[in-house]
Amino acid sequence: MYKVTLIPGDGTGPEIAEATTRVLEATGVQFEWDVQNAGEDVYNTEGNPLPERVLESIRKNKVAIKGPITTPVGTGFRSVNVLLRQTLDLYSCVRPCKTYKGAKTKYENLDLVIFRENTEDLYAGIEYQKDSEGAKAIIDVVRKMSDREIRQDSGISIKPISVFGTERIVRAAFEYAQKNNRRKVTSVHKANIMKFSDGLFLEVSREVAKDYPDIEFEDRIVDNMCMQLVQKPELYDILVLPNLYGDIISDLAAGLIGGLGLAPGANIGNEYAVFEATHGSAPQYKGLNKVNPLALILSGVMMLRHLGETESAEKLDKAIASIIREGKDVTYDMKPTRDDPTAVTTSGMADAIIAKITQ
Ligand code: NAD
Repeated sequence: MYKVTLIPGDGTGPEIAEATTRVLEATGVQFEWDVQNAGEDVYNTEGNPLPERVLESIRKNKVAIKGPITTPVGTGFRSVNVLLRQTLDLYSCVRPCKTYKGAKTKYENLDLVIFRENTEDLYAGIEYQKDSEGAKAIIDVVRKMSDREIRQDSGISIKPISVFGTERIVRAAFEYAQKNNRRKVTSVHKANIMKFSDGLFLEVSREVAKDYPDIEFEDRIVDNMCMQLVQKPELYDILVLPNLYGDIISDLAAGLIGGLGLAPGANIGNEYAVFEATHGSAPQYKGLNKVNPLALILSGVMMLRHLGETESAEKLDKAIASIIREGKDVTYDMKPTRDDPTAVTTSGMADAIIAKITQ
């Protein structure tokens, strides 16, 4: 029996979380779900969108699975998702992007894995609002330290990239490559422009690569990487990126394999692991029992592997692959047209997967 923290999330989160726990239980692996709510509703009732009880639960159980949580845009509380990754030091965001036969995509046989650094970069959350004391102080310091003038009416976000943070994410990518017989790691950056942050990311990537002579290493500038991924994604294997590029390229890669409904993920640190889909809360579909639960179910497959339940993970992955191949019991986003009347519901898709596993 595994005790796992379950954060249902908000928007469509609770619906896909319910589908996912049912499917995971159907594999025969036993779970005790320690349900912990977080997000806007919790902020309204408890005054904190990520209360200590949620963090305590993950610290105790070591493993969590989580539905998406909405982040207010521009104002309001900071992202619960980012805060969770930073507080628990879940520094590797691992996002496999693999095509399943039958998925609606122009690309076949893709099998990329994205390693996104999860704690630094422009995502560090070090920001100063326009006209704030902090913004004014930084503008003054920059004027003194260089001959550059930042406009007085600027908001400022800081982009820290460290040797420590880069080393551990690049090493995680190479270790994964080694364990999983992968051939190549590509470090993605904009070192030509941001010489001291992205330049450092590239320099450290090159250093770490020397410890893994059997695995090919190369680097790409992020804008070129976007173009290459659209034109010839089959050339790439494992990508390692700073936080912001990792966020953007993850969605691009999800698009290559058939959409966000199919893109799973894991946030992994030295002590804890939190499994969650790449996609957000898709709030426009809340309560409609409509969205695709596969991204979170596939995150559940990653969780089973993490727990050492390899056989159950394989069994579930095969069941998912055959549901996608058959194309019958899939949600609207996986049908040839979005208004296809044969599309099944979120829970209907989970039922079909359960029927396959228990066949
Ligand atoms: P989103 O991922 O929720 O949606 C983007 C598009 O993908 C929408 O068209 C949506 O309908 C579709 N989509 C997403 N998940 C789907 C699914 N399971 N099945 C079918 N279609 C799906 O991104 P957004 O609209 O930019 O963000 C909504 C909210 O989610 C925001 O508040 C954002 O901050 C938050 N968010 C949370 C996480 C997280 O919890 N880790 C990640 C990303 C975004």
